[in-house]
Amino acid sequence: MNVLVINCGSSSVKYQVIDTKTGRALVKGKVERIGEGDTTHASAVAKVLEDTQAFEPATVGHRVVHGGERFYDATLIDDEVIQAIEANIPLAPLHNPANLAGIRSAREALPSVPHVAVFDTAFHLRMPRRAKHYAIDLEVADRLGIRRYGFHGTSHAYVAGLAAEHLERDIADLRLITLHLGNGASACAIELGGSIETSMGLTPLEGLVMGTRCGDLDPGAVLALARELGIDETDDLLNRRSGLAGLSGLGNDLRDIEAQAAEGNDRARLAITVYAHAVRRYIGAYAAVMGGVDAIVLTGGIGENSAQMRRRILQRLDFLGIRLDEDLNHDAKVSADTPVVDISEERALVRTLVVATNEELMTARQTARVAGGGTDVQSPGPVPIAISGRHVHLDRASMDVLFGAGSELTVYRNLSQPGQFAARETVTLVGPRGRIENVRVLGPLRKAPQVEISRTDEFKLGVDAPVRASGKTQGSAPITLEGPAGTLHLKEGLICAWRHIHMTPEDAEAYGVENGDQVEVAITGGDRDLTFGDVLIRVKDSYVLEMHIDTDEANAAELSKGNTGGDLLYQPPESAASASLSRKRAR
Ligand code: AMP
Repeated sequence: MNVLVINCGSSSVKYQVIDTKTGRALVKGKVERIGEGDTTHASAVAKVLEDTQAFEPATVGHRVVHGGERFYDATLIDDEVIQAIEANIPLAPLHNPANLAGIRSAREALPSVPHVAVFDTAFHLRMPRRAKHYAIDLEVADRLGIRRYGFHGTSHAYVAGLAAEHLERDIADLRLITLHLGNGASACAIELGGSIETSMGLTPLEGLVMGTRCGDLDPGAVLALARELGIDETDDLLNRRSGLAGLSGLGNDLRDIEAQAAEGNDRARLAITVYAHAVRRYIGAYAAVMGGVDAIVLTGGIGENSAQMRRRILQRLDFLGIRLDEDLNHDAKVSADTPVVDISEERALVRTLVVATNEELMTARQTARVAGGGTDVQSPGPVPIAISGRHVHLDRASMDVLFGAGSELTVYRNLSQPGQFAARETVTLVGPRGRIENVRVLGPLRKAPQVEISRTDEFKLGVDAPVRASGKTQGSAPITLEGPAGTLHLKEGLICAWRHIHMTPEDAEAYGVENGDQVEVAITGGDRDLTFGDVLIRVKDSYVLEMHIDTDEANAAELSKGNTGGDLLYQPPESAASASLSRKRAR
């Protein structure tokens, strides 16, 4: 499919027509100096359409900087979506109006093709609460929408996908730190394929040092500047006269700054060291946030091209397992044909990859998916729902500690998934704030212990459990278990289960989904209908079709008919609520 990608800025419009089958740009260009003379957004878009009409684009993808709290995926544009983008103007006063001007002109000129908005913020919208909130008065923050949104999402998602492909690993199994180092710059911690933390916040001003933007700054410094210079002057200083340009006094292009630094220019040297220092700080922080890191991905004009800067950033990080190969780093050249180059030493525990970003291609792909109706799941019928109470899986060693050497689990009742049973044995969970007794153990024994609790349980125990698919306990939270024979401190293993649907390959085919897909599930027919997003599809021959949610989730949809004591799973009667996979796959 040929997709016209439009990136409408305040003074320029960049465009490409991309054939999504080959990933190649058929034509690309830029109209500049909008706002000068007769050049308006409308006349610029008219010129874009003139240049691209020969390629007969089937759809148009528009980059939109700020999607606010609402848009977690690319979205087909209609009047209501335009209103919602307008509503986000206060959050991105420089960008969203320009993006909207492009959308309006293009829709007017090409009314018969679908137009799709692709948001810079969408990839970060599912960040955990702890990463989204600034520690300021919550009511004020909520009223004004002051929280961390993150940007460059299209680039971070794209390079993370290429890195996983290159490493021949499922992205859901990787902990990645992606560093988009261009004129704008941001870092992103990616776990289970999603952004869990990123350096830009409410606006693209926070975080790393950039070409002309300041990055992290004490809010007190902003107030001091504003008092002295006034708001507008401070805005201009922090957005356009800071960063590499402000420090070096030489403009924002690192090539010039590196050349001057080599000549002994002290401000140029200062700019380079402050820049590298900020990136290193974020690498350390994100490795800590994820409890480790499997790969560092560098992209953007600086990340892709400056071997010197990469070296400065990544030196002396061998304590994290990062080891740069000097020659590979020096020679690395990425291109459309070779978009990924590994620059780490063979023995490095963490792979360091230089990856060529291509935000336009990612935008084109997302646009094609949305405009083409995506890969809608079919709906051969509702999915039965089972509600999982808190429970524990044990391995041989933990069984020995808790219930005595050589002890065995005894069956209390069989569960719906074949071979799985609720055991008579129970343990006590002990957290820093509280205890939960009579937590049922599920059998049979597994390779590693795992404790699954709800968000409500988190508060009782005073712990912070990451949302994880079963079995993905690496780097999860610690917890203490007490059994009749002893106490066990698990360094990791405590999770909040990722809601999921078990199904056979035949079920998957019938629903049109694959193992690892994430779908939305609509709960209908009850008093409090609810659509669950991020529902993981798990496919295995031995599974029985069933969606598993925890007690909090069930309560939210009013599915629980009360906790039936030790019964772990609750199957609502046929006539009660049912779940149907009703929406597009959200990959
Ligand atoms: P981007 O916004 O991703 O296009 O990145 C643009 C920036 O990348 C430029 O302003 C330069 O600072 C930087 N850049 C591009 N090529 C090089 C290079 N060979 N060496 C150092 N910096 C570079």
